[in-house]
Amino acid sequence: MRIPRSLTHRLVIASVLAIVLVTLVLIPITWSNTTTRFESSRLTAKTLLEAEYDALLQGMNESLNHALAIAEFPSVRQHLDRIRQTQNPYQDVWSDQNEDQIRGMLSTLLTHFGRYTRLVVIDTDGRQRLSTEDPPESEILHRNHLYFREAMAMNPRSLYLSAPYPDPSRSGQEVYVIDISTPIVSSEGEQLGVLLLTLNWNYLLRTLPHGMGANAQASAVLVDGQGNSLLPVSHGPVAFGDSMKDHKRVIWLEMETRNRGELLLDDELVVFQTHDLRTHHFRTAAMQVLSVPGSQPWRIAISVPRPDVAFLIAESPWKTSLVVLTYGLAIGFSVFWVLSNHHQRSLKEKAQNLSQNARSYARELTDLYENAPCGYHSLDEQGVIQKINRKELQWLGYSRDELVGKRYYRDLVSPETRDAFDEAFKAVLADGHEGSAEIELMCKNGEKLPVAIEATAQTNASGFQYSRAMVFDLTDRKQLEDLLTTQAMTDPLTGLGNRRFLETQAELEIPRSRRSGEPLTLIAADLDRFKRINDDYGHDVGDRVLQEFAKTAQTELRDGDILCRMGGEEFTVLLPNTSKEHALMVAERLRAAVETNPAEVGIDTTEDGYLSYTASLGVTLVLQDEDSLKPAIKRADEALYAAKEAGRNRVQWRSADMQHT
Ligand code: GH3
Ligand code: MG
Ligand code: MG
Repeated sequence: MRIPRSLTHRLVIASVLAIVLVTLVLIPITWSNTTTRFESSRLTAKTLLEAEYDALLQGMNESLNHALAIAEFPSVRQHLDRIRQTQNPYQDVWSDQNEDQIRGMLSTLLTHFGRYTRLVVIDTDGRQRLSTEDPPESEILHRNHLYFREAMAMNPRSLYLSAPYPDPSRSGQEVYVIDISTPIVSSEGEQLGVLLLTLNWNYLLRTLPHGMGANAQASAVLVDGQGNSLLPVSHGPVAFGDSMKDHKRVIWLEMETRNRGELLLDDELVVFQTHDLRTHHFRTAAMQVLSVPGSQPWRIAISVPRPDVAFLIAESPWKTSLVVLTYGLAIGFSVFWVLSNHHQRSLKEKAQNLSQNARSYARELTDLYENAPCGYHSLDEQGVIQKINRKELQWLGYSRDELVGKRYYRDLVSPETRDAFDEAFKAVLADGHEGSAEIELMCKNGEKLPVAIEATAQTNASGFQYSRAMVFDLTDRKQLEDLLTTQAMTDPLTGLGNRRFLETQAELEIPRSRRSGEPLTLIAADLDRFKRINDDYGHDVGDRVLQEFAKTAQTELRDGDILCRMGGEEFTVLLPNTSKEHALMVAERLRAAVETNPAEVGIDTTEDGYLSYTASLGVTLVLQDEDSLKPAIKRADEALYAAKEAGRNRVQWRSADMQHT
């Protein structure tokens, strides 16, 4: 798998992985939790339904029994019987005292039961004869009420039930009541009247679960045969009398077709059961129970929220917090891991780059050191070679092993320049820490190499460590210098030395002659009538004659004789270890050679290509006490002048003591 390089990519992938992993762990936990919670909800709903069903059934059946029992009270029967036998219904023949006793007894009974709002005894004419209401209204007629008419038409021990309706005595209070009526019959089976018992419907419903909100564990639904709610609004959002067909149509359709069952909706679980009092009165002494058309059967349902993930979250916020915390921690840890990993990686990369750079610098340095255009070496305090670069080794012709740790650098310096080296090395060891010298190195092959050395001392806290020197090859410079010197002392036309050259030679020869005592003589030569040659044949031919003279003169001289061109067509010969006689001989030989060797000037100039010319020469001795050639040159010129005077093409001598004539 290719690892994405971008930090953002890695952060996203790590976070997604963390979320996926936590989710994978949470899914089975949540699933089992939801399933368990669902089963427990279903059980709760069923238990509640059963309890409510029983409570309702039992409560109603008890009330039916109460009605039947009171209708059969002998005192109630007797009271009605006496009323029936009197002519004037309003003139009570029985005592008022008896009536008060019966009323008191019935009131006590009602107070004891707690669930009834009134008890009325009605005679066959529909006239109210006894009532727990205070004060009793004896003129009240019940003739037109269904509970009266239905009860009058019934067999003994039969009951009539009204639908629940708002209690008129407590209007606006959401209190509902049910009328229960039954015929009062004499022991002979004669109809005496009707007993009306009004049941507080709210009292009966008090055990039903209340509330329909999201947090409610359960809520109840109770509707009549047509689907109209029989619950006060305090039990839920549906008002009393509202049709369930409008509010919970799906549940209603299901309840209408089955007597009992279970219904699983998107967000709730509903269990329901039908309760028909017309038939479910087997635990009573009732013969027959009639009700208002459409009011029976009652259908009771218990709804519990269907437990899903959202439900679980809403149910226990701390669990949600725990899940969120788990996700947060997992993502946080992943992000931390990626970041620290990224940090480490970038550190590693940096370190790699640094060491790579360091290696490349080191290589470059080594390369620079080894192949620099100059030599490098390091010496210890004794001057033994500690380190030397390839360039200097190449110059010297030695291998590294032959020198490093084995040879004093001083041994490689030529004896002539060793003093300069010693002085420079001393300067390096001294406080100045620097020294330089121009010396000659002796190469392995015997050649000498002129170099300049510049050295510095490397020191630390404990003092001198080693000296490091740069060595520059001076060969080229020396050659150039030599060339310049040679050029400066050479006459370009003839290739002979010039006046300066003569002076430098004189500086060597005069002391030497003085040391050895050998005579030193000087000849001055001047071509005769040279101006005419130039005039007749041109300057170039003149140059050519000058070159021919130089050649001819050189062939007549010894190796040690020094021939120079002083300028124009004047030449000088310095003759070491040469006596006056010998010098005169040489001068004569020179004169004769010029005379007999015409200059070769080419057939364009003369007929045979040669041009005859002559020279006059003056000879003199350089005296032992003379420090320069100046006096001797002066004397030789005088002799030369004499030769010219005497007719040219001849040699003249001039000694120091001769007077000029
Ligand atoms: P003399 O016999 O008395 O020496 O007569 P001269 O003509 O040789 O003497 P002078 O000193 O009058 O003339 C010398 C001439 O040499 C003058 C100059 O033009 C010529 N000259 C000097 N240098 C050169 C040179 O380098 N090349 C040529 N071609 N001529 C030169
Ligand atoms: Mg001249
Ligand atoms: Mg001349």
